[in-house]
Amino acid sequence: MKTIDMIIKTRHMYTLEGEGVGYKENQAVAVDRGKILAIGHRDVIKKEYTGEKTIDASDKVVMPGLIDGHMHTSLATLRGLAQDVGNWMMHGVGPFQTSATDETRIAGAKLGMAEAILNGTTTIGEDGDCTDEICKIIERFGARGNVSARIREAKNKVYQPGELYEYDENKGEKALQEALTVHKKWHNKDNGRIRILFGPQGADFVSEKLLLEVKKQAKDKKTKIHMHLSQGSRETKQMEMRYGSRTIPWLAKKDYFDENFIGIHLTDALDEEVKVVAERNASMVLCSGSIGIIDGIVPPAKRFQDYGGSVALGTDQAPGNNCHNIVNEMKLTALFNKIKYEDPEMLPCWQALRMATIEGAKAIGIDDVTGSLEVGKQADMILVDLKHPSLAPLYVSPMRNFIPNLVYSAQGSEVDTVIVDGRVLVENREPKTFNLEEIFEEAQAQADLAAEAAEDKFWEINGVNAVYMKEDKL
Ligand SMILES: [Zn+2]
Repeated sequence: MKTIDMIIKTRHMYTLEGEGVGYKENQAVAVDRGKILAIGHRDVIKKEYTGEKTIDASDKVVMPGLIDGHMHTSLATLRGLAQDVGNWMMHGVGPFQTSATDETRIAGAKLGMAEAILNGTTTIGEDGDCTDEICKIIERFGARGNVSARIREAKNKVYQPGELYEYDENKGEKALQEALTVHKKWHNKDNGRIRILFGPQGADFVSEKLLLEVKKQAKDKKTKIHMHLSQGSRETKQMEMRYGSRTIPWLAKKDYFDENFIGIHLTDALDEEVKVVAERNASMVLCSGSIGIIDGIVPPAKRFQDYGGSVALGTDQAPGNNCHNIVNEMKLTALFNKIKYEDPEMLPCWQALRMATIEGAKAIGIDDVTGSLEVGKQADMILVDLKHPSLAPLYVSPMRNFIPNLVYSAQGSEVDTVIVDGRVLVENREPKTFNLEEIFEEAQAQADLAAEAAEDKFWEINGVNAVYMKEDKL
């Protein structure tokens, strides 16, 4: 009998192997040195292995951890400040974001990541500033990190609609150098748990020269580019003013799309543009909640899949979407697409779950290590508590109702245990690697400072939420 790190026994397991959801009954998973050593009938595993730790998950479902392909947790300090606004970037989050400091961002990152992990996210697809600090938090919290080092050349300020962004070459060069430093320090750290991508903020925020340099560097360093792409009429207008072209045709001419490009949103992409990006083997991240709230649009993920592309889900940011919860994203994605196509059979729950796990992992290039429960992969998994009103009662015959309930009924709080690389980050809903009280305190202190710093700008801009405040509607 071999002694290993951990054995988890369950009645219901979804491995997400193959083309479906990989349902298996009465299974156990054997975990050693961070990896999945064996999966088999619980009696067989029991005969072969002894676990230093054994989890009896008989009343829970064992499944892969959820993948969040795109998030700005550093904005979580600004949660709830930019909804219901037409010009989200400049009039919604603008007054608060332009006053934000590194401390605002770091407090937000801790809050956003804690929220995501408690909702079952094992891969944090962070994109933003303070990358070194972000990596330190991911390392400490124990999540898997697929982190994009932000590269921006446009000066930070509130631009008027139709005002062309002003580039600062030194700022862009500095951001690239910082991205290279972060890459050197963190890429493949902790046995590959953290990976660093290059994250130009968008084709409108970075000059042509720097975009091409980023592409060259990503190729040299064998990593990917993670970039907002065609993210709304604001971006399209910037590109048309600067280059006389829409974003995707402009980038396609520069051979920007390949298997190492991850396009975020594609909110404003035309059907033929979606086709170009997918057919060049680039992938996409769909942020249903965020784009629904910010733009009132359902992005063309379904078309992207029809053209053969892989799509991950993403939560984007708390001042837009309002939460870092992939369980919520699965529901919104399935629901919004049914409504968009006026077809209840569109984007079934199993497909939303695949986008949140194995398909998502494939889209962001980490399916070699995570996204499904398979021998040899890293042990990234969650245990979902069936003894929860939203998941009860359970049917296994003539049909199983767990996936429909997970996607259409669950809220994230059903996630009981979160494991990454074989390490337990959350057990019985108790975080083991972070302290929620400290996180709340730090976030509140930073929120108080952010409120003070943004006050004048908020009233001066007089956006929708300023009007609502005056009218006692918030
Ligand atoms: Zn984003």
